[in-house]
Amino acid sequence: AALPPPRTRIFKIIVIGDSGVGKTCLTYRFCAGRFPDKTEATIGVDFRERLVEIDGEKIKIQLWDTAGQERFRKSMVQHYYRNVHAVVFVYDLTNAASFRSLPAWIEECKQHSLGTEVPRILVGNKCDLQDSVQVGTDVAQQFADSHSMPLFETSAKDPNSQGGGNHRDSDHVEAIF
Ligand code: GDP
Ligand code: MG
Repeated sequence: AALPPPRTRIFKIIVIGDSGVGKTCLTYRFCAGRFPDKTEATIGVDFRERLVEIDGEKIKIQLWDTAGQERFRKSMVQHYYRNVHAVVFVYDLTNAASFRSLPAWIEECKQHSLGTEVPRILVGNKCDLQDSVQVGTDVAQQFADSHSMPLFETSAKDPNSQGGGNHRDSDHVEAIF
């Protein structure tokens, strides 16, 4: 008898950060290959998927995008943080407040056992807006180091624009996930 087809493994990655930092645009860019025409504020939880091939195996990457936990109902929060393989923290590098919120987001994840035991990365989005930068690369890099995370400055809008981080050559949405 023919063998059943191998099951596609699913990797669940949650994308976290203040409203407006570009979480929806980043996940859209990764899954649909382009910047969305328009985005509506995410209501509750939304997820997008993309099949990728790694070492000859097809893997499903599932990106969970949120409106911000404060709007979640408790049952939703449990569901959101369950079976997470990796966490992407996003701030907007043209918005200092979104950077100052990071410790609270990191703490929230730790409360759900998503600390150093899972891969975590820090993403400074909107690096296409170089004239409006409020969060410098040095400060962001220091923060990332202190939390043992790699930093990527990127742009969901213009993936070719260069961030100033340590990942100059790979600074685009494709590389961060
Ligand atoms: P979310 O609330 O974190 O999901 O943020 P959205 O993805 O909805 O984006 C918020 C706003 O920022 C929208 O107006 C987007 O068009 C804009 N935006 C998102 N990513 C970028 C980016 O990389 N560069 C620029 N210039 N604008 C962006
Ligand atoms: Mg959103």
